[in-house]
Amino acid sequence: MSNLAILDRTLASVPRSSLHALAPIGLSTPQVESLTSYFCRLVHSHACTTHDLSKFIIERIEPERWETHQGTHGKSRYLWYERSISGLGDAALSWAGMLAQLTSVNTLKHLTLLPLRGCVASKGLMANQARWCPQCFAADQKSGRPPYFRLAWDIGLNKVCERHNTALVARCPHCQKSNVRHTATFVVPGWCTACGTFLGSNNEESRTEPLPAQGGNSASTLEAERADINFARTRSISALLAVTSSPQPDEFTAGPDSLHQAVEHIINELDGGVDARFARRLGVRKSTIHYWRTSQTPVTMDTITRIALCCDIPLADLLQGKVDQWQPAADAQRQMALVLAEPGKRKPRERREHDWSVIRNTLRRELLQPKPRSVTEVAKSLSINTRLLYLQATQEARQLGEYHLRYRHEQASLREAALHNELKQACIALKNEGEGITVSEVEQRVGTKTINSTRHLYTVLTDLAYQAANDNAV
Ligand SMILES: [Zn+2]
Ligand SMILES: [Zn+2]
Repeated sequence: MSNLAILDRTLASVPRSSLHALAPIGLSTPQVESLTSYFCRLVHSHACTTHDLSKFIIERIEPERWETHQGTHGKSRYLWYERSISGLGDAALSWAGMLAQLTSVNTLKHLTLLPLRGCVASKGLMANQARWCPQCFAADQKSGRPPYFRLAWDIGLNKVCERHNTALVARCPHCQKSNVRHTATFVVPGWCTACGTFLGSNNEESRTEPLPAQGGNSASTLEAERADINFARTRSISALLAVTSSPQPDEFTAGPDSLHQAVEHIINELDGGVDARFARRLGVRKSTIHYWRTSQTPVTMDTITRIALCCDIPLADLLQGKVDQWQPAADAQRQMALVLAEPGKRKPRERREHDWSVIRNTLRRELLQPKPRSVTEVAKSLSINTRLLYLQATQEARQLGEYHLRYRHEQASLREAALHNELKQACIALKNEGEGITVSEVEQRVGTKTINSTRHLYTVLTDLAYQAANDNAV
């Protein structure tokens, strides 16, 4: 075989690549970069614009998609930054596939959440803002490598950096703009695309120090616990990313079946197969567990991490159904649910003793007021739940509810009558002056506010014009 022939064969075996074959950063680590980051680095490497490169890619994924929107030409452009190309949806699938083909780097799907497709629900998975850890950017620069976006930052549930335990940032500290990395023509990870400031910082002000558990009030203790749990969640997700981003074949194989089998096993072991008990443990609704057990649909990242934390099992094992070695921990009874509850959603409430005779009296007094407050307002002033009020002081609450509604209807009728009278006077005046009754003429006399406040304006004015004409005739 001639040298040329050998060279030909060698060349043929080298995959053709149209884009630079940049090496992905952080594979097999929690610090793995996102496909968005990879795309931005490719743009930089080719010295083109995000617009040019996304057009180049889209034309190969879906010819004509760039120029058309639902069949209409020139209506819409494909906005690469609005698609979660690092997520687990179809955009991620086509982008990871096409970029792998164009760069000949076959590990790009590990820069997305595609390995979780089928078991993790896409709902609420991706953060709706671009976020970053300033300390990670600073560390990148210090170590002499280009700063890059971590895949972990794109996961909405992650509120802190796994490495520095500092809050992720979504706003440039210099120009206060958010989503700075996405809409620009040139995106250099680590620098604000709006003002050009370097976003890395070693300022540790944002460090989320756990508050002292001793001596603080119960709210601050709870906040501290929540911060701890948030961090534990981030660590759990980060450990998962280290596994899903491993380019080793068969390193991570998860599917809906493996996950559901694992959870069935856990519910049986821990709670005798009872949905309600397991739901209480996780701090989710019973119907959530029931629906999910029967429908076998993908589970939200929120629920999966709750299970992993409550049951002390690595996320990767849970998703892959590796629960053979798992044993319920001795302290499995601890109530994570309280701590995991998001602020404002299901706050653990201290049991308070209510003096119902006082509360009933308050409601009765309100019934004697000429301007009664609503049941909700009274409940609020008593720092009590409206539903509880209806449950415990049913008769008084209902009476007040009806009285307040009557009062409001009366007020509305009075207001309407006043408006109609005002309009009628205007109509009579116009008629007397021999002017035609039009909305603009009436508006000049009564003002825009009256016009805008009148319901069924045209019907009302027609009636009034008719009345005014008749009154005049009399
Ligand atoms: Zn960091
Ligand atoms: Zn800025």
